[in-house]
Amino acid sequence: MVRFIKITAFVAALAACQSEDSASPSITQAAISTQNAGDNRVAKDLFGYIPRGSNQTPEAHGSYARGCQAGAAELPETGPTWQAMRLSRNRNWGQPELVDYVQDLSRFAATQPGWAGLYVGDLSQPRGGPMLSGHASHQIGLDADIWMLPPDRLNLTRQERENISSISMRRAQGAYTNNNWTPQHEAILKAAASDPRVARIFVFPGAKVAMCNSATGDRSWLRKIRPWWGHHYHFHVRLNCPAGDATCTNQAPPPAGDGCADAQQWVNNILNPPPPDPNAPTRPPKGPITMAGLPGQCIGVLNAN
Ligand SMILES: [Zn+2]
Repeated sequence: MVRFIKITAFVAALAACQSEDSASPSITQAAISTQNAGDNRVAKDLFGYIPRGSNQTPEAHGSYARGCQAGAAELPETGPTWQAMRLSRNRNWGQPELVDYVQDLSRFAATQPGWAGLYVGDLSQPRGGPMLSGHASHQIGLDADIWMLPPDRLNLTRQERENISSISMRRAQGAYTNNNWTPQHEAILKAAASDPRVARIFVFPGAKVAMCNSATGDRSWLRKIRPWWGHHYHFHVRLNCPAGDATCTNQAPPPAGDGCADAQQWVNNILNPPPPDPNAPTRPPKGPITMAGLPGQCIGVLNAN
């Protein structure tokens, strides 16, 4: 029991200093086992090299920035309205609900002038988990990066998908959108956020404020669009834990309201940076996530066929 309290306090401390993009769970769930306590192997060195999903019932274990995924589905490399990019990374794997969601959103995108569909960036590794490069999150098969570059064709070769870059939508360090930003971007982000499967979407602050200013009618979808650093070459969609997934830990929901005042504050801080806070706590250096730092179920995911 004492041990449990210690672990809970540790998780709470982590949550307090972690970013929203990689936020720790708000709820400690008893369903997550600790069978791998004491296993100090570095998790990314194991999960980073597994070529395919596990032959298990689909389940997201843990939280977006600390977990793994069982029974992942592969987003087909090319479909009628999408292409997965950077195939060499092998990160086009997610929980079946995420793979469905990306396909659904791509069908909507294809209705927009100038958009043949979507170019899809990273989902998760075949079994999720920490990665050898990039992302703190994307670990449980419920996060997806969607490129801002409007696809003009969906017959890119493997090599082209390695070489083509997305385009930035920002100017003034993200305080504003630039001339690449179009009403179609807004329509696609609105459709993306309006889907009940979605928990949050991360995009640079200037884009959120642009949408706050142009939205008409129902504004409830804006609540899920959260300003964040980066995210001007792509936006990042995060789904809620699928219903009935007992070992998946949701992030606390975004604050009530459309979040537009908060986004404007981000913009103001970009334009007029506040002086550094001399009392800001210094973060202790964080080592890589070990197997002991992941839910115990991740051992089973690692070892499954
Ligand atoms: Zn992302």
